[in-house]
Amino acid sequence: MFCMDLRSDTVTLPSLQMREAMCKAEVGDDVYMDDPTVKILESKAAELTGKEAALYVTSGTMGNITALLSHDIHGYSVMAGKDSHIANNEGGGISTIAGAFCQQVIDDSGLPLVSDMELIFKNSSNVHHAPSKLLCIENTHNKRGGMASTVAEMKVCADWAREHKMLIHLDGARIFNASIACGEKVSDYCALVDSVQICLSKGLGAPVGSLVCGAKDYIEKARFWRKRIGGGLRQVGIIAAAGIYALDNNIERMALDHSNAAFVKKMFLDAGIETLDVARPTNMVYFKINDASKTNELLSACAQRGVKFGSTAPAAYRIVFHLNIDSESAISAANIIIEEIKRIGD
Ligand SMILES: *Cc1c(COP(=O)(O)O)cnc(C)c1O
Repeated sequence: MFCMDLRSDTVTLPSLQMREAMCKAEVGDDVYMDDPTVKILESKAAELTGKEAALYVTSGTMGNITALLSHDIHGYSVMAGKDSHIANNEGGGISTIAGAFCQQVIDDSGLPLVSDMELIFKNSSNVHHAPSKLLCIENTHNKRGGMASTVAEMKVCADWAREHKMLIHLDGARIFNASIACGEKVSDYCALVDSVQICLSKGLGAPVGSLVCGAKDYIEKARFWRKRIGGGLRQVGIIAAAGIYALDNNIERMALDHSNAAFVKKMFLDAGIETLDVARPTNMVYFKINDASKTNELLSACAQRGVKFGSTAPAAYRIVFHLNIDSESAISAANIIIEEIKRIGD
């Protein structure tokens, strides 16, 4: 049966070549810093992001919390977009694990709004305040439809944070998508921030893993925090090899995911289906139907025909393109969704 999983770009399966690279990986105990494959992966990530060092972690969520903990935010305020992954989708770790107060900033444009940051900024001269110490930026912005921001746009936020003596963390789960969509270098984005978390298991197609990148002494600290929260790994080169393969082979091809998403968005528009407008779109399409009572009916009708995706709110859906979906399958999947929307009589 036709089978297309459009729920996320996390669903990709490792290719035979990737598995071969894993099979051949040289390994050692990475807690003793003896794993040569992990070292190669970490130095590649440091080079790509233009940072001095990098640390391999199991997931994006672990990468973000390790990065935040390593900025010593306990007892401080941290600004994050109100629709950001860090504020909404990481179990509240920012407060429960890192002990910081999360100030949620308006991020309708995909980036924290400077005038709103100005309003909620807490300075350290007032005894009532938990001072604002760190700003988190997400690029691409998942809930804004996978919107990519340019380096110049990000710099406006970063400059404001610097003027206010704040540190900056970039949740770059999909920074490679942003780089491709905007024609910018990943390292130019990362030059604006103190730390960045990049995901290998999204568009890059590795089964596991993320990296935290930053200055050398900062990454030393992150190594300590990773161990403290139980993230020290042993012969992990076996999966780090998949990450190396992903960085070597799967970056440029993400442009195809973006063109598939753009093509499908046009198909939806031509069929009269409402889609979320995104200034610089990447590999996602958010779309809507009119009748909220039919939310689940559409999902199950499409799933029965082999097309899986998720709803983000009543009557609203997200589909995500990734390396297991070629252009032909993207079009077939979109046709099935369009037919089912028509059939359920929305
Ligand atoms: C997926 C994602 C993460 C976290 O990644 P996991 O590996 O699922 O923990 C962080 N930030 C953003 C924007 C994401 O989309």
